[in-house]
Amino acid sequence: MINLTEITEKMIPNQKINYDRVLQKVIAEWEKSDVRPTVLLHSCCAPCSTYTLEYLTKFADVTIYFANSNIHPRAEYQRRELVQKEFVEAFNERTSNSVQFLAASYEPNKFIQMVQEKALTEEPEGGKRCSACFQMRLDIVAEKAQELCYDYFGSALTLSPKKNSQLINKIGIDIQKFYATNYLPSDFKKNNGYKRSIELCKEYDVYRQCYCGCLFAATKQRIDLKAINIDAKAFLAEKKE
Ligand code: SF4
Ligand code: SF4
Repeated sequence: MINLTEITEKMIPNQKINYDRVLQKVIAEWEKSDVRPTVLLHSCCAPCSTYTLEYLTKFADVTIYFANSNIHPRAEYQRRELVQKEFVEAFNERTSNSVQFLAASYEPNKFIQMVQEKALTEEPEGGKRCSACFQMRLDIVAEKAQELCYDYFGSALTLSPKKNSQLINKIGIDIQKFYATNYLPSDFKKNNGYKRSIELCKEYDVYRQCYCGCLFAATKQRIDLKAINIDAKAFLAEKKE
C-alpha cells in the first residue's frame, strides 16, 4: 500500500504534488496484486463523475456517493441528485458496468450553521469556506466508506479546473487518519480528463449547473436563485410525469 501521509510529509511547502502520478502508482499496485478494490466516490453533480467513472471503472468497483448539503435551494439539490443517478444508470447501460449510486440525507442547516459558526459567509469562492465545505463532505464520505467497508473513499471533484486539487487531496489524506479506509488520491482533470468530461456530458445529454452550489457563492455571483428554483421544480415535475 502506498503511504500517502509519507508523500505529503516529504512535501516542500508550496511544492505541488502530481496526484495523478500518485493515483497511477496506486493503480499499478492494484494490478500487481491482482485486486479490484471498492471505491466510494464523492460527486456533487453528474459532470465531474463522467470521465472519472469512465476511467476508474477499468480498475475498481465504484459507488457514487451524493453527499452535498451545501447545495441551495432544495429543488436544485434534488435536480442534481436525480441527474447524477440517471447518469450512473445510463453509464451502466452503455458500458455494462455496475456502478452503484448512494445518497446521503440533505441537511442544509448543518452546512449553513458550520459556515456561520466559522464566520465564512463572506469568503470568496475558492477561499476558506470552500476548504471547510470540502472537509465537511469528504468527512461524511469517509465515514460512510468505513461503515460500508469500502477499501477507498475519494472525490470526483478533482476533475474540475475550478477546484483546488492540491487542497482536496490534502484534506482527503488528513481525513483518512481518522477512519478505517483509505483515501484515493486523484487529479482527474489530467490526461485530458476535463476535456473528455465535456464530450461525455454532450453524449449523455447531462445537465451542467451554472454555479457551484451554496447560497453564499451564488449570491456573490448574482445567480438568480428564484429562477433556478422554478427551473429545477419544472425539471423535477417533468421527470415525475
Ligand atoms: S465540482 Fe462543480 S461540476 Fe464538478 S461535481 Fe461539483 S458542482 Fe458539479
Ligand atoms: S462555493 Fe462551492 S465549494 Fe465553495 S463553499 Fe460554496 S458550495 Fe462549497
